[in-house]
Amino acid sequence: MLKLENIVLKIEDRIILDKLNLEINKGQIHAIMGPNGTGKSTLSKMIMGHDKYRANSGKIIYDGEDISKSPTDEISRKGIFLSMQHPLSIEGVSNSEFLRAALNSRLQTVVPLFDFIKDIEKGTEDLAINKDFLHRSINEGASGGERKKNEVLQLKILKPKLIILDELDSGLDVDSLKIVCQNINDYLKENKDTAVLIITHYPRILEYLKPSYVHILAGGRIVKTGDASLAKQIEETGYSSFGENNE
Ligand code: ADP
Ligand code: MG
Repeated sequence: MLKLENIVLKIEDRIILDKLNLEINKGQIHAIMGPNGTGKSTLSKMIMGHDKYRANSGKIIYDGEDISKSPTDEISRKGIFLSMQHPLSIEGVSNSEFLRAALNSRLQTVVPLFDFIKDIEKGTEDLAINKDFLHRSINEGASGGERKKNEVLQLKILKPKLIILDELDSGLDVDSLKIVCQNINDYLKENKDTAVLIITHYPRILEYLKPSYVHILAGGRIVKTGDASLAKQIEETGYSSFGENNE
C-alpha cells in the first residue's frame, strides 16, 4: 500500500532521513519509535506532502503511484490521513464547517447536510466530546487532549485508508486514550484494509492498537524492526543499544 524507497530528506543542508526504506501493506499496523528529533514527524509530514518536507531523493509509492511530488489535498483525497503531533487552532472557522468542507473535498461531492450532521453527532458521542465543540472555532482554547480527540473525529468523518498517528497519545489522559483507541479499533474492524502507522514513545498505546511491526528510527533510517516486544524492550533499556549501525 505504502512504500518508501531510499528516501533522503534534508532540512537546511542537514540530512534528516538518510536512505530510509519502509513498506506498509493493507490491514497492517506498524509503529515507529525513536529518540526526540530523529525525524518521525518529518517523515509523517513528508508523506502528507508538506512543502517544507519534500524528499530530496527517493520515492513515496502509494497504491502503486509515486506521490512524492503530489500536493497535500490530492494525497488526502487518495485516502491518507495524518493525526498531527501538534494540531493547530484556526480562529473563525468552526469545527463543523471545517469537517464539512473537508469531507466534501475528500469525496468530491456535496454531502447531504442531514447525513453529515448525523455522522458528526455520532462521532462526538463515540469520542465523548461535548457537542458544543462542533460550533467552536477549530481547537480554539482546546486542551492538548481535546485537540487529539478532534483529530480522531476528523479521521472518523474522512474515512481514510492509511492512518498516520503522530504521538496521538501525548496529551491524552488514560481514559481518553482508551476511548480514542477504541474508536480507531472499531473503525479498523469495519474497514479491514485500512493500514496504520503509529508514531509513539510509549508502549501503552500499543497495548490498545496492536502493531505487527515495531521499527526503530535512528540516524535517519530504520535500524531495527521487531514485534510489539521491542517497544517494551525500549522502555526498559532506552535507545542507546540501537546505534546507527545496528541491524
Ligand atoms: P521527531 O518527530 O522525531 O522528534 P522531527 O521530525 O520533528 O523529530 O525533527 C527532526 C529534526 O529536524 C529535528 O532536529 C528538528 O529540529 C529538525 N526540523 C524539523 N522541522 C524543521 C524546520 N522546519 N526547520 C528547521 N529544522 C527542522
Ligand atoms: Mg515528532
